[in-house]
Amino acid sequence: MSAPTRFDRGHTDDLMSFLAASPTPYHAVATAAERLEKAGFRQVAETDAWEGTSGGKYVLRGGAIIAWYVPEGAEPHTPFRIIGAHTDSPNLRVKPLPDTGAHGWRQVAVEIYGGPLLNSWLDRDLGLAGRLSLRDGSTRLVNIDRALLRVPQLAIHLDRSVSNDGLKLDKQRHLQPVWGLGDTRDGDLITFLEEESGLPAGEVTGWDLMTHSIERPSYLGRDKELLAGPRMDNLLSVHAATAALAAAAAADSGLSYIPVLAAFDHEENGSQSDTGADGPLLGSVLERSVFARGGSYEDRARAFAGTICLSSDTGHAVHPNYAERHDPTHHPRANGGPILKVNVNNRYATDGSGRAVFAAACDKAGVPVQSFVSNNSMPCGTTIGPITAARHGIKTVDIGVAILSMHSARELCGSDDPFLLANALVAFLEG
Ligand code: ZN
Repeated sequence: MSAPTRFDRGHTDDLMSFLAASPTPYHAVATAAERLEKAGFRQVAETDAWEGTSGGKYVLRGGAIIAWYVPEGAEPHTPFRIIGAHTDSPNLRVKPLPDTGAHGWRQVAVEIYGGPLLNSWLDRDLGLAGRLSLRDGSTRLVNIDRALLRVPQLAIHLDRSVSNDGLKLDKQRHLQPVWGLGDTRDGDLITFLEEESGLPAGEVTGWDLMTHSIERPSYLGRDKELLAGPRMDNLLSVHAATAALAAAAAADSGLSYIPVLAAFDHEENGSQSDTGADGPLLGSVLERSVFARGGSYEDRARAFAGTICLSSDTGHAVHPNYAERHDPTHHPRANGGPILKVNVNNRYATDGSGRAVFAAACDKAGVPVQSFVSNNSMPCGTTIGPITAARHGIKTVDIGVAILSMHSARELCGSDDPFLLANALVAFLEG
C-alpha cells in the first residue's frame, strides 16, 4: 500500500500555472485532460461503444470534463465518489457581430457572462481566448494571451459624482472594449483571429470567445501567505480535484469506490445546458460505466444509492472591511482550511450526515475544517451541489475554499487553502 499523497505549497505553485493556462472553460478542460493523460487516463468518445476495462478514463464535451478511475476488481454496483466543480467564470464575451466602434476607436461588442464585478474589468489589459468552429465542423482553441483589449474608465474630471455616488455602469454602453484605432470594418476581429491561428480567410464560421486578464497569478502579503489571481472561482476546485483524482488512481490500493471528477460548464448562469450540471452528462457517464462493466439497472440503482458527491466551489472569507455582512459567529478565514457550506433552504446541499462525511475526510487528511453560513439578512448564493443531488438522487455535500473578491477579474485566497483542499479531496476519494 503506497503512502497517502500529501500536497503542499508546490500544489499552489501548480495552481498558478493551471489558472494562467486556462483563460476559458474549453482551455480549463484541455489543461485538466493533459494532466490526467500524464497520470495514465485515456479519453473515451461518447459516440463509441464503451468497454468495461479498469483504469482511468475521461469524456470531454465542450467546457465540461467527466473523468473516472475504475480500480481492478470493481463490480458493476461499486459506488462512486465524485468531486463536482465548475469550469466557467464571469467575464465579457464576444457578440455574434463583434466589429463596432465610434469616433476613430475600434471596439468589440461584448455580452456579459454571469455576474462579474463589472468595475474589476475596467482599465485592465485584456486578452481574448476561446473556441473557433471551422468549416469542416472541427473546432480549435485560440488564446491571444497579450494586451489586446481594454475597457477604459471615464476620467474623474468628466464624472465628478463618482467619488460620492459610486460608479454606475450601463451594461450596454459602458463596457465595450477598445482594441485599436481606425475605421470599423465587418469581419475584422475574426479575420485577425484567423491570421493569428494560421487559418485561411473565411475558415472560421462560428466562435465562442471571451476576454481575460493577462496579469499572471501572484503571491501577495508579507510572507506570501495570500494568492491573487483570476478565475479561482472555480478553477481552484477543478485543479485540486484533478490532482486528487490522479493521486487516488496512482495510489490504487483496493479502492472500494470509483473516484470521479465532474467539472461542468455554465454554473454561473444556472447550469442548464448539455455541458452544465443540470444536464444529463454526469448521469449518462456513470450509467454507461455501470453497463459497460456488465451491470443491470439494479446494479446502477445500487451504485447510485451508495454514491457521495462533494460539490467543491469557492465561498466567502470574512472581509475585514465588511464583517457585518457575514454571520456574526461564522467567520471563515483564509488559510483556515476548507469550508463546509450550509444553507437550510437547500441553496447548498449539505446536511448533518454530509458534514460528517467531509469532517471524516478532513480528519483523515489532518486538515482543519471551517463552516460557512449566510447572515440571515443576506440572500445566499448557490452552486452545483443542490442540482446534482436533485437531478441524480445522489447524496451531496457542498464544500470549498473561502476567498475574497468573488467574481472579480482578480480574486484573492490564502496560499495554503488550495493544498489543504486537495489533501481533503484525496482522503475523500480514497474512502
Ligand atoms: Zn463558483
